[in-house]
Amino acid sequence: MSDSDASAEPTAGQLRTPIVAVLGHVDHGKTTLLDTIRGSAVTEGEAGAITQHIGSTAVPLDVIGDIAGSLVDPEDFDLPGLLFIDTPGHHSFSTLRSRGGALADIAIVVVDVTDGFQPQTIEALDILKRTQTPFVVAANKVDTLPGWNPDGTEPIQTAIDRQSDRVESDLNERLYEIIGELSDEGFSADMYWRVQNFQNNIGVVPLSAMTGEGIPDLLTVLMGLSQRYLKEEMSIDVGGRGAGTVLEVTEERGFGTTLDAIVYDGTVREDDRIVVGGVNEPIVTEVRALLKPKPLSEIRTEKQFDTVEAVAAADGIKIAAPDLDDAMAGAPIRVVRDRDLEAVIEEVQAELADLEVGTDEEGVTVKADTLGSLEAISGTLEEEEIPIMHAEVGDVAPRDIRMAATADDPKHQAVLAFGVDVLEDARRLAEQEDVDIFEDDVIYQLVEDYDEHVTAIEEAQQ
Ligand code: GDP
Repeated sequence: MSDSDASAEPTAGQLRTPIVAVLGHVDHGKTTLLDTIRGSAVTEGEAGAITQHIGSTAVPLDVIGDIAGSLVDPEDFDLPGLLFIDTPGHHSFSTLRSRGGALADIAIVVVDVTDGFQPQTIEALDILKRTQTPFVVAANKVDTLPGWNPDGTEPIQTAIDRQSDRVESDLNERLYEIIGELSDEGFSADMYWRVQNFQNNIGVVPLSAMTGEGIPDLLTVLMGLSQRYLKEEMSIDVGGRGAGTVLEVTEERGFGTTLDAIVYDGTVREDDRIVVGGVNEPIVTEVRALLKPKPLSEIRTEKQFDTVEAVAAADGIKIAAPDLDDAMAGAPIRVVRDRDLEAVIEEVQAELADLEVGTDEEGVTVKADTLGSLEAISGTLEEEEIPIMHAEVGDVAPRDIRMAATADDPKHQAVLAFGVDVLEDARRLAEQEDVDIFEDDVIYQLVEDYDEHVTAIEEAQQ
């Protein structure tokens, strides 16, 4: 392997790209927002390398400058850009960890202006509060307001000022409702153009993920916030040993099982020996190839990826390596390089143990699709004072039913399954053993269903 690629061998003490996550209630426009940002980055920049998903989208500073026009002067910033995690939702936000903290450095909470705060909006705010993650609120779908009449690419504030008095006052009313709701949740907030200090005040950015209005403003606020308040955290030894997080474990034709990952510290190189968190035990393997999606214009053959020799933080990458079948989404990745292998394995184990959920002697059984969702759901159950006997990643199997059946209290003879399948054998056994299975992809819904079940049991006992 040669070291000819200058960008692959950065010097120490550089600033890395802040990692951004998008949260909010279902249907409020998270996916559309990410698609639009990705789309603008593709049309605006050389960085057309965004057609194949690798789980994240890097938007370099010069592209942000192009998108944001007069709002951003790249000269004013020394952070390299923004890296968006492509999977929206607080489920993925809390799944993705770096050394015990959230992987994302900043968040966007999307709120539909016409629908206002909803249960998952509040869930998202709770998580951000707990993890002390700075965020901005995207007040989305302004284009749905009757009479809305945009004019190309003007900043959203200008567009709002120019609208008829009726549209403006309708919009303002809704925006102030959002500001009021944020205040009810304990956050001081204001329209972004009035916010002086984004650390103490949450900026609200009206926008339309659909038409793209207000997205330049959003990117400007995110860059400003990062530059002012995250700069110290972004200062890393970019040339050091790489550390990252698995976003997703995927099959890639010609490469077998690969990892979509974010490298948030140091550099990962081709041929590096790495340790990855696995379902049963840490996986020790060697990087066979580091894959970046090819720009659309260059995809003429079946090959959709370019290989790179190294990837420096923070960036998204697809890692091809042997033996990745048992790798877990949300698990840590560590480069061994000149360190003692055992020490690195221990580090990965310790980080995984940190993610594990404390279990009680008596309580319900929980199964979830990832460590992060397991943790999120356990946090909610704890708040509701529902004890957990056993919590684990994976589909609901017969042994989970057997475990749940050992609970003394009938209301604990239950399995809460979050985003996982229930195996047929397990379902049959549950009927025989009188174990109740609750399934949902929304935490509050799952817990609510279980609560109702508990109430029914308690009423029957009286
Ligand atoms: P998610 O569940 O939060 O990811 O929401 P989606 O991005 O899937 O959006 C839900 C629906 O709202 C889709 O039908 C979108 O087309 C629509 N939508 C999202 N953003 C906007 C917007 O800014 N304006 C309008 N009119 N519709 C939007």
